[in-house]
Amino acid sequence: MSGLNLAQQEAVNYMHGPCLVLAGAGSGKTRVITHKIARLITAGLEPGRIAAITFTNKAAAEMRERAKTLIGREAKQVLVCTFHALGVRMLRQDGAALGLKPQFSILDSDDVTSLLKDAGGTTDAKTARQWQWAISLWKNMGLNAAQAEAQAKDDNERITARIMARYEERLTAYQSVDFDDLIGLPLKLLKDHDDVRAKWQQQMGHVLVDEYQDTNATQYEVLKLLVGERGRFTCVGDDDQSIYGWRGATLDNLKRLPQDFPELKVVKLEQNYRSTSAILRAANNVIGPNPKLFPKTLFSELGEGEPVRIVDADSEEHEAERAVARIQSTRANGLSKDWKDFAVLYRANHQARVFEQALRKAQIPYKVSGGQSFFDRAEIKDLCGWLRLLVNNDDDPAFLRAVTTPKRGIGHTTLQALGTFASQYKLSLFAALFSGSLPSAVSSRAIGGLHEFGRYVNDMEFRARHTTGAEDARAFLLDWLKDIDYEKHLYDGEESEKLAASRWTNVLDFCDWMSQRCGGTIDDTAGVTIESEKKTLLEVAQTVSLLSTISEREKDQNVVTLSTLHAAKGLEWPHVMLAGVNEGLLPFKPGDDDKAMSEATGPMSESIVQRLQEERRLMYVGITRAQRSLAVSWTKKRKKGREMVAGMPSRFIAEMALEKSTTKEDPREKLKALRAEFARKASDTAAAAAAATAAGGS
Ligand code: ATP
Ligand code: MG
Repeated sequence: MSGLNLAQQEAVNYMHGPCLVLAGAGSGKTRVITHKIARLITAGLEPGRIAAITFTNKAAAEMRERAKTLIGREAKQVLVCTFHALGVRMLRQDGAALGLKPQFSILDSDDVTSLLKDAGGTTDAKTARQWQWAISLWKNMGLNAAQAEAQAKDDNERITARIMARYEERLTAYQSVDFDDLIGLPLKLLKDHDDVRAKWQQQMGHVLVDEYQDTNATQYEVLKLLVGERGRFTCVGDDDQSIYGWRGATLDNLKRLPQDFPELKVVKLEQNYRSTSAILRAANNVIGPNPKLFPKTLFSELGEGEPVRIVDADSEEHEAERAVARIQSTRANGLSKDWKDFAVLYRANHQARVFEQALRKAQIPYKVSGGQSFFDRAEIKDLCGWLRLLVNNDDDPAFLRAVTTPKRGIGHTTLQALGTFASQYKLSLFAALFSGSLPSAVSSRAIGGLHEFGRYVNDMEFRARHTTGAEDARAFLLDWLKDIDYEKHLYDGEESEKLAASRWTNVLDFCDWMSQRCGGTIDDTAGVTIESEKKTLLEVAQTVSLLSTISEREKDQNVVTLSTLHAAKGLEWPHVMLAGVNEGLLPFKPGDDDKAMSEATGPMSESIVQRLQEERRLMYVGITRAQRSLAVSWTKKRKKGREMVAGMPSRFIAEMALEKSTTKEDPREKLKALRAEFARKASDTAAAAAAATAAGGS
């Protein structure tokens, strides 16, 4: 019981009935779960009869780790997993009752898209993805195809429901399930098969659920059937952190608990152990305007701490540089020495790119969670593969990537023969190429192709060594892309033109970034231009290839985290930067930035008011990730599609900055004044932004 306050102890000690811990961020809800696992075991419950359900696999791994520290080896038998992983386990064991073989396959999102194309008779991935969204939502609401058709509101929905029926037939025929089935089918099992339900209810001595506010209706049904009438469970959650409404999560689940389990014990936690008072106040100010479902209070004894910083950046690049400078100065001041103490959080995946580039430039190790790293994208890896080969001819993985990108008629058999030969003589693939005595398995035509490739690489290496300055570097890179016909390669390999186009944009972005780094000047963060040496393209390529070693270092995990706000839920860092806190992006304005939208929130269906409430919760989640320092930045210019537009600070920034309303001053007046000030700042830059757009377009 050490390390728990009285309220936490109360929740931990209550073991024989339903329990709900409802409390704000950082109040130790997750800690209650780990300690309760230990408590249940010491009270005599077999570890194998305890299940703890977390929101992500990563959270599960962390909880397993923490439980192990508390309890030791026995913790291993506790089932700690996500709802989906629990579903897999149930289906592997008992899916036969539904006609599912134990070795059924689980389709990922891409598999589902192609199956839907087939079921709906289209080649258009976009249409298929729209069906996918609709079907997924229906499944999360517990509707099958027939029920979906019965409640369809228009022809479009009716058609989608019929496609769903054909899609389901295919899933059955292929012994496959999709992600939503991992919840829906176990529910069906528990509902329709008394023996299976009895077995699982017997098995589940106690079920614990973290992040309960983000469960959806089907997950709730599964939980209810698993715990049965005895209702031995512990759910912990915070209605103010419900941010997955767009995926079907519903706060109704919080309201249903006391109705379905009248003897529910509700525990409230009020002390926040994570953040300083300054940070907590900002969080409370932002969530304040939302309707209060359950009254809560939250205080911190960690002291006032540093004030929350508001950073107004000129552009996204500038914002990223300021973030990097902040990380460096915090370390230089001795406030934190580990990279893992820092996180940059943003709304949508695509915002990561500029931060990645700035961190790489400063050679700071980082990881991107909750989305793909820009440098992990296939097209960027292709290009980096080529660059690595120029820097180091003996880099075999890079050789293989380059020689097949694009395909130049050098086939698998040829490469295999070359590989066998190379390892026999302890040569790199590239060296083997020129060894003069290639094995007979390689046809003379293939040898010709290989030699041509080798010569091309040598030639490029020579040119890269002698190319300096942004202009020349750009010309070099564009020539090279033309030589290898990379744009065509992308369009050939990608069924959707839109995706191919976005890949090609990434390629051009990458080339811009490379060539700027060959240029002679860099802008420092204070806006002063500093002259620096021009670099050759090969030198820049060298640092780029060094970067793969940076991401290698990721393995020891002492790295800066870049994450979407959604993926940051439940986590904490000493120093947090919230980036891109612009009006239109956070809160998100529909139609304003469709790319961010589809990535971060799915299609819009709820009302604007509900939307804004969820946005507010998202901001609240972001702020409450910070332990000691928080910086919130916005940009005076931002990209909207292909245009640059003037950026405005998010309304949340002004709201955050409100002091505690203990003074006589009317907070609304102060809010107005702050907004006016921001608007003035923004309009100063509006003209500049317009000019920038004009220049960009010419
Ligand atoms: P979130 O809502 O963000 O998921 P949470 O309520 O789950 O937050 P935890 O992550 O469990 O909060 O705890 C926040 C921090 O406070 C952690 O670092 C945890 O170790 C610490 N903490 C929790 N309870 C106590 C306590 N009684 N004494 C000291 N530290 C505590
Ligand atoms: Mg938690």
